[in-house]
Amino acid sequence: MKANSNLYLYYGPMFSGKSKKLIEVYNSLKEKKIIFKPKIDTRGKNFVISRDGGKVEAIPLKNIKEVYKYLENIDIEDIFFDEMFMLEGDINIVIDDLLLKNYRLHIASLEKNYLGNDFLEIKKLIKKSPEYNRHHLFARCHICNMPSAWTVRLINNHLDNDKSPEIIVDDQEDQIIYESRCDEHRFTEKILNQEVKIYEDSEIFYK
Ligand SMILES: [Zn+2]
Repeated sequence: MKANSNLYLYYGPMFSGKSKKLIEVYNSLKEKKIIFKPKIDTRGKNFVISRDGGKVEAIPLKNIKEVYKYLENIDIEDIFFDEMFMLEGDINIVIDDLLLKNYRLHIASLEKNYLGNDFLEIKKLIKKSPEYNRHHLFARCHICNMPSAWTVRLINNHLDNDKSPEIIVDDQEDQIIYESRCDEHRFTEKILNQEVKIYEDSEIFYK
């Protein structure tokens, strides 16, 4: 398959600045642009938000197919998607179609789940973009601060296991925390007595 130069990807673990990059590119364009986020991601309501304070109003989608109704009768050149992995539907079929229609697509997404397994639709997408349009971002390990490529989920302070759903959007009972970890600390349990020092930038999404 020929790589498509209209496909720009920002991918990596949580805390790697993907939304920040997306917002930067979005804000750099003056017009003919539209930005979407997954409806399931209730953080920030109808906004794409970056951890450094960037904020852009976005249209929430449940299934990627819903994108078409927002493209009717409007002159759009650039389409932005945040957290693509959370969208339902045939992501690659719709993306292929939008590329055929000559839209420029800018996509931010995790590429691996909390166990380190690929989101297959995202993996396929990455292969479709030329290398110079792929921005593989890294975060900092929450334990040692080295560059990190993995996202882990801690439920009530313990590493989550493979019995859990791939995406948890809300949970009333448990405290769910995501962290990025380096190769060495992917499987390290949270070290509670160091919590104040090394976890100060951990983010509690749902409590
Ligand atoms: Zn580490």
